[in-house]
Amino acid sequence: TVRTRIAPSPTGDPHVGTAYIALFNLCFARQHGGQFILRIEDTDRVRSTQASEQMILDSLRWLGLDWDEGPDVGGPHGPYRQSERGAIYTEHADWLIEQGHAFKCYRTADELEALRESRREAGLHLALKPQDLALDPAEQSRREAEGYPYVVRMQVPSDGVCVIDDMLRGRIEVDWAQVDAQILLKSDGMPTYHLANVVDDHLMGITHVLRGEEWINSAPKHKLLYEYFGWTLPQLCHMPLLRNPDKSKLSKRKNPTSINYYRRMGFLPQAVTNYLGRMGWSMPDDREKFSLDEMMASFDIHRVSLGGPVFDLEKLTWLNGVYIREDLDDAALMRALQAWAFNERYVGEILPQIRPRISTLSDAMPLAGHFFAGLPAVSETSFEGIDLERETLLELLQFLVWRFEAVGDWNKEALLGEVKELAGHFELKMKAFLAPVFIAVTGSAHSTSVLDAMAILGSDMTRARLRHAIE
Ligand code: ATP
Ligand code: GLU
Repeated sequence: TVRTRIAPSPTGDPHVGTAYIALFNLCFARQHGGQFILRIEDTDRVRSTQASEQMILDSLRWLGLDWDEGPDVGGPHGPYRQSERGAIYTEHADWLIEQGHAFKCYRTADELEALRESRREAGLHLALKPQDLALDPAEQSRREAEGYPYVVRMQVPSDGVCVIDDMLRGRIEVDWAQVDAQILLKSDGMPTYHLANVVDDHLMGITHVLRGEEWINSAPKHKLLYEYFGWTLPQLCHMPLLRNPDKSKLSKRKNPTSINYYRRMGFLPQAVTNYLGRMGWSMPDDREKFSLDEMMASFDIHRVSLGGPVFDLEKLTWLNGVYIREDLDDAALMRALQAWAFNERYVGEILPQIRPRISTLSDAMPLAGHFFAGLPAVSETSFEGIDLERETLLELLQFLVWRFEAVGDWNKEALLGEVKELAGHFELKMKAFLAPVFIAVTGSAHSTSVLDAMAILGSDMTRARLRHAIE
């Protein structure tokens, strides 16, 4: 049976690219009556967080991209979190060493840099080969005996071509000369993506790997590892990456990339899924609006077009409107609004903010409107009352966005810390510093506390508003 997977690394916001790749894996599996698996690739212990993993699971579920096996639902091939599979990777790395397919490399960082530098000077490819890395035997034994830190690297051929057979691209040739002796186990014993990914895809019975084209260059290493282990290589399919309207790779500098943003903005999950299904793919009859079930039923991977699909916020917004107007009757729209923001949990967070200023119930909406809005209409004139040079003001907001991007645990105290520090750099009092932030985030100079507002609005909406005010 066909088995596909999505294998996100929980190192940040849940990316629309992850949802897009998940969607195609799901449709491919379903269309063949197969299974779709979710595996968390959290071998990067520094950058992986529990919060990011949770957001990825939540947002894929919100989109309706349900998996048959995964860390939360279990399954026969678990654990589905790589951080819980450490022993499996060491065993496999040890076996590769015994068979002579991998070796312990005791090279220091300085030595590696010197090796690369000499290749650069000689105009050679920078890929480091096993023979470049080899130490003379006496030195190798000395470092081993003294317990030097080492990594485990794979053997790779020096020349010839590796041929990859891609479901969409056909034959891809990569010169082995470009492929380095990839690290499989790091000096702390943790596996790299390459080892863990190959071992898990095999042990989890994955038959088809649909993933972003950014992984094409890794395919030769993976193919070789499958050969070393004597396993069958899954069918590989490298999907075109999503693009900004200017055709560059989709990036949060130019377009919101977090699924949380779309959810917070009030997009419907079925519209987002539909739109992602139109990224490089079309229905046989070319219709723009279709459900996930319809996509699964009509799916054909060979109709994926390789021209970079443009993720266009305006088109998605248009499609979302069509969904709301055509598919939601009043009762359904009511439920959608409730699920989105008009619920006890969200309104409950807002009430303490308006309580000190409310005199009649009819004050509530004017006071709290910005909690239910998208991007407020702000322009240069909105900031006229602010006693700062336009340039300083823009810089201040931009720096704040960058700082906020790095805030993992989004709460008022954390935001206060960032704001205080940045206000210090700008040599501004808190009040003066917050004045433009106030306008950017709430759309007006008179409003509820901006720190509380940002905490309640959440990371995605806050950053989107700050960025919108700069544009
Ligand atoms: P960077 O700019 O550092 O490459 P990023 O925006 O690509 O960051 P990542 O955290 O590297 O974000 O990627 C998160 C996930 O989203 C990865 O699985 C990646 O394959 C996928 N992804 C990122 N950008 C795209 C894209 N343009 N199209 C499809 N998938 C993408
Ligand atoms: N963990 C990788 C990612 O974040 C998975 C790549 C793959 O599908 O092989 O994209």
